[in-house]
Amino acid sequence: KKPNVLIFLMDDVGWNDPGFNGGGAAVGSPTPNMDRLAREGLVLTSFYSTPTCTPTRAAIMTGRLPIRTGLLRPTMYGEKGGLHGETTVARLMSDAGYVTQAIGKWHIGENKESQPHNVGFDDFYGFLSVSDMYTEWRDYHHSPEIVSNPARLDMMNRMEFNKNVVHARKGGDLRNVQEINIPVLQELDRVWNEYGVDFVRQQAKGEKPWFLYYCTRACHFDSYPQDAFRGKTPAKYSYTDCLAEADHALGNLVTALEETGQLENTLILVTSDNGPNMESWPDSGRSLFRNSKGSTWEGGMRVPFVAYWKGMIRPGRVSDGLCDCTDLFTTAARLAEAKLPEDRFIDGIDQTSFLLADDGHSNRREIFYWLMNNFSGIRVGEFKYLVTATEKDPHDSVNPGGLSGSTREYTWGKQFNLYMDPKEEHNYAIRKIEYSSTVNESASEHLKTFLDYPPKVEVTIAHIKFEPWMVPLLRKHLEERKQQKIGPGVHP
Ligand code: CA
Repeated sequence: KKPNVLIFLMDDVGWNDPGFNGGGAAVGSPTPNMDRLAREGLVLTSFYSTPTCTPTRAAIMTGRLPIRTGLLRPTMYGEKGGLHGETTVARLMSDAGYVTQAIGKWHIGENKESQPHNVGFDDFYGFLSVSDMYTEWRDYHHSPEIVSNPARLDMMNRMEFNKNVVHARKGGDLRNVQEINIPVLQELDRVWNEYGVDFVRQQAKGEKPWFLYYCTRACHFDSYPQDAFRGKTPAKYSYTDCLAEADHALGNLVTALEETGQLENTLILVTSDNGPNMESWPDSGRSLFRNSKGSTWEGGMRVPFVAYWKGMIRPGRVSDGLCDCTDLFTTAARLAEAKLPEDRFIDGIDQTSFLLADDGHSNRREIFYWLMNNFSGIRVGEFKYLVTATEKDPHDSVNPGGLSGSTREYTWGKQFNLYMDPKEEHNYAIRKIEYSSTVNESASEHLKTFLDYPPKVEVTIAHIKFEPWMVPLLRKHLEERKQQKIGPGVHP
């Protein structure tokens, strides 16, 4: 039997939140279940998401960077767009004989073509968008100007986005289960967990391998813990209580796997979809690194990661080898022996040997940082080279700038040593020119792929030198795009 794959994806959880990365008890929110998997599995300290929710989720689903799928930022309040024309890992695994289940947060497009049961999942139980959209306009403490104004409340109620917990099966229609208000939202991680545990138990009776894409509500703002968890963490904040809920949910899934004899045949991957959102503080996670959600500083994109597979991954491994969220697509497809699409560029790299071999090394040489449609930078080894990044607004005394700052181009680029300077404070590019050709070569190779595989959206590349041989190709490409009248192409 091929292995089962469980992706346990949390929302806005920071690198330092789990105990295995130095958080846990030290920051008033113990995470015993994640820590157990970390002790008995593999921790990756350099695992990367994208700066925000939707792009990461789409990257996991498609194995492609947001700049290729066009899903550059979170879709909000019923906005169209999503996975049109893309091939998901769920579809590939389904074709390879897997039972495919999605639970919890979706947020990769509400439109029909992008809904989970229409992109390869056999079954979906959860909500289509993002946590705060269901509650922020219903909560007097956050939005008194809406709650106390019938006309504005009516505006929200009439706004066209799905406000419900939904259920759907492949080949069927989406069914609204229950409208999400605050008391309903409060219970979602419990209800979804029961659905997930039930799925795991049911599958033990079946012959097919399965893929479970399990996305918690925790810990996106606004956090409303269940009564059983409220005030129970040492920190006693709604965020930490909800993190405890997520940890508890993971524990329940592992217990169900253990009790049904499936643990030895299941790869469990635990991670988060972006760094902590420091602009919703104190309803927010923690990170050792600079800046936060929305940015390409490490705080925005470097997230906690554990891979656990009993008997297959040697317990107690820790690696700083590079791994990207797109790699989950390729690795899961590889384990399912699925055939990858050949008509498009796949950014994900097969990391099976990295995860499973006792002394496995990463098969990835670089991390590419993209800030919306701007090429932001590159990491090779411990070195990070930035050409464009988000900067804090100097007049904003509260927010660090992840989602409130502005995009800055660095004339000469900045170079950081992430071992010596995890907070990216000491730019020493001028002393490290010996690396510049390595970095430029890697960046050029990456950017060259956009000539062969034109992206769906305009690409902006600051400060990266185009080599002369690229220019005629680029001209030819732009001319073709113009003739086809299919919108903007590569913009040097
Ligand atoms: Ca998120």
